Amino acid sequence: MTPDDQPLVRTIKERCKACYTCVRGCPAKAIRISGGQAEVIKERCISCANCVLMCSRGAKETKQSGAAVKALLGSGAPVAAALAPSFPVEFGGIDPLRFAGMLKALGFKYVCEVAFGADMVSLQYRKLINENPGKKFISTACPAVVSFVEKYHPALVPSLAPIVSPMVAEARVIRELYGKDVKVIFIGPCVAKKEETSRNTADIEESITFAELRAIFKDAGVDRNSALDSQFDPPHPAKGVLYPMGGGLLNSAELEEDLLNGRFLSAEGLESFPEVLKNLEHGDIDADFIDLLCCNGCIMGPGISVKTSKHAREAALRRYARKSYFSIRLNDWEESVRRFRGLDYSATFAPEDRRMKMPGADALQAVLEKMGKTRPEDELNCGACGYPTCVEHAVAIIRGIAESEMCLPYTIDRLKTTADELTVSYNQLGKTKQALMQSEKLASMGQLAAGVAHELNNPLGVVLLYAHLLAEQCDKGSRTYADAKMITEQADRCKKIVGGLLNFARKNKPFFRQTSLVKLVDNYFKTALLPEGVRVTVDRSGEDLQAEMDPDQIIQVMANLITNALEAMGSAGSLTIRTFPEANSVCFSVGDSGCGIKPENSKKIFEPFFTTKQIGKGTGLGLAVSYGIIKVHRGNITVASNSDPAAGPTGTTFTVKLPRVARDAGAIKMKSDAAAK
Ligand code: SF4
Ligand code: SF4
Repeated sequence: MTPDDQPLVRTIKERCKACYTCVRGCPAKAIRISGGQAEVIKERCISCANCVLMCSRGAKETKQSGAAVKALLGSGAPVAAALAPSFPVEFGGIDPLRFAGMLKALGFKYVCEVAFGADMVSLQYRKLINENPGKKFISTACPAVVSFVEKYHPALVPSLAPIVSPMVAEARVIRELYGKDVKVIFIGPCVAKKEETSRNTADIEESITFAELRAIFKDAGVDRNSALDSQFDPPHPAKGVLYPMGGGLLNSAELEEDLLNGRFLSAEGLESFPEVLKNLEHGDIDADFIDLLCCNGCIMGPGISVKTSKHAREAALRRYARKSYFSIRLNDWEESVRRFRGLDYSATFAPEDRRMKMPGADALQAVLEKMGKTRPEDELNCGACGYPTCVEHAVAIIRGIAESEMCLPYTIDRLKTTADELTVSYNQLGKTKQALMQSEKLASMGQLAAGVAHELNNPLGVVLLYAHLLAEQCDKGSRTYADAKMITEQADRCKKIVGGLLNFARKNKPFFRQTSLVKLVDNYFKTALLPEGVRVTVDRSGEDLQAEMDPDQIIQVMANLITNALEAMGSAGSLTIRTFPEANSVCFSVGDSGCGIKPENSKKIFEPFFTTKQIGKGTGLGLAVSYGIIKVHRGNITVASNSDPAAGPTGTTFTVKLPRVARDAGAIKMKSDAAAK
């Protein structure tokens, strides 16, 4: 990007906190919010620098010209300061002659007042208005207003008075008087003048603000104590010193506002001037000549660093204006006017249309709906986004200069949703972590159990074999035969326990068959013996619930769960069996109205040998075996239980989920079991 391509006003991204204050304060809608950051759209910007004034973070900066001015002053070329008439506002504490001396001390060869250029321009306005009765004109002293007309009211460009600004007029006077080799530097309250300077390089070399001048004074060590008094260089001004105040041009050109006929109108400030232009374009204004200033008078320009009120600034300017006006020699002033009247003060302006198309109603509605504004009352028009209404914000989104996240209520809603989702995920994560820890624990128990079972299996087989042999060799009525039988029975029991451990450790391979879960449940209840006091409900889903499973092992799980349920209820209660589909799984649950499982036990129930039953009433392997079987089916078994009557009806429900397709490569697949189907 070349220096000329650089925007006059830009955002310092690191400082921008996306508060949208600049969006709110920009009269040209020249600020785009992209990726949550503000950026100035150079082509749309009118260089008013209001965003610079409004940003409390100091995240907007203007092009700085101090270095270029210092270089020019050190170059040996004759340099003239064209001092804007608002200088008494910024440097009111310094005597004007001392102030002129300070500028000379910096190296300016000439120090001239732009107010004389304003006098010349005023004469041009009088002439223009007198020679064009009935024609409407807009003043062109403020470059921000001119830029606004060119960009956003191109139809009004022919109404722009074809007259240069006081700055350009003064530069032409200076170079006419002191030589064409004189470099003119404008010093004033205005940032937009930098843009105007870049369009008038034949007349003006550089433009700096009063704030920049202060920095140059400081760097050069020049202050009121070190400098000497000096006269301003001629030509000296008359009423042009009033230009920086609202209506100053009219007053200086003696085009006084007349309330009765309203031929002349002045308006200043960002609130007013765009409104006046809109009215003018719509034909709502009768005035022949309209003097517009972007700021509330140049005395409120963005290049002024003092923080005084508008009234204090007007007072400072008037004090200087009175002193200056009453000290001029009228003959000298008239002579100067005569001398420079013949210079070319004409200017031309051209439309530079930057208006954006209005989006269609459908697109607008879609954007509003996306932001949750489906009813008129949803449009809060709170202004937090920087746009006065929700509709204007939506229009800006469609035009690509705003984002929906700028809408505070919408963003808060989204944040709430995200926070809720995060809470759900967090809770889910906690549960998954618990389940993982539990399954790791059970897996290591399984390894231990498998090792023990494996080691016991062979000696048990030997014990059984020899006990059988011993029994066969004995007389059936003998004591030895009875002992051998006892050994056989107990060894068988041990074998079953070992088998259970191997099931838990998933060492017993299932024989998968395509099986109907619903029919499996029905078959179970055909042979099950249930206490009379227990009410059984079998709730089948409409589906057949086919899945690949080992029906014998699943029946074993079902039997374990139902046995536990019956034991938890005693002689009476209700037993509910449900079968249902879920995504790619078939499921069944066994629920009882028993005493429930205490929370401290619920984590241990799948561990082998854990039991709450009396000694001798259970091995504590039923649930461990069931767990192992379901895991080898790549399924899942969970439990929900309440043991606290105060918290609601007590009871326990085990839910088993089995994938419809057995994915265990090691599983043995069999043809469909016709009986189970
Ligand atoms: S300088 Fe003025 S027009 Fe340009 S972005 Fe800032 S507020 Fe808008
Ligand atoms: S009102 Fe004056 S200071 Fe403000 S932008 Fe216009 S010319 Fe510059």
